[in-house]
Amino acid sequence: MKVNEIFTTIEGETSLTGIPMLFIRFTGCPLRCSYCDTTYAYEDGTEMAISELLKIIKRHGLPIVHLTGGEPLAQAELPELVARILQNHNEIIIETGGSMDIEPFIKEHVRIMLDIKTPGSGMDHHNHLENIPLMREKTDEFKFTLCNRKNYNWAVDFISRHRLMEKNCVINFSPVMPGLSPAELADWILKDRLSVRLNCQLHRFIWPDQTRGV
Ligand code: SF4
Repeated sequence: MKVNEIFTTIEGETSLTGIPMLFIRFTGCPLRCSYCDTTYAYEDGTEMAISELLKIIKRHGLPIVHLTGGEPLAQAELPELVARILQNHNEIIIETGGSMDIEPFIKEHVRIMLDIKTPGSGMDHHNHLENIPLMREKTDEFKFTLCNRKNYNWAVDFISRHRLMEKNCVINFSPVMPGLSPAELADWILKDRLSVRLNCQLHRFIWPDQTRGV
């Protein structure tokens, strides 16, 4: 598997914000979002065997392993890695850009964090909508990254058209930073009485000068 970086950090997004965990960032992504903050993971990386990764996970001793990218689902060996991690009784988070099938990863002790790409990303035509019915109540979470009011309106309409509220999954609204101010997004959410979670990337506040390994 091609790995860009491995690090321990404090989860900065979703309802698990604040929890320490081990991150494994894989190399490569089929998308090119306008606001991507991990462009360094498009190409750079080192080939690692599943057995090496398992040893690293064991050595770090954290109960939650967060698999991200790039696009982790683009790694052909991801199903095997997930199965092996679960055998070792770790919990797993898979953070995906939402253009690939999540079905092989719908398992107990695996949480899916699914991006729904908005038009501001330039990648909204890649949303794999067949993933939506697979998302599980109170386990999996949606994430919309918003560049502006137009994206916000689009996301609100998407939620309504696809009845996402009925799924009882957390829905995260993330402002692109810099770009959209969290205060402005908070204001829109409150005015609309929208039951979504404002998702502000805690790691950026903890380590404002660090762009990698957080
Ligand atoms: S899906 Fe994620 S890693 Fe891929 S281009 Fe978009 S923001 Fe970057």
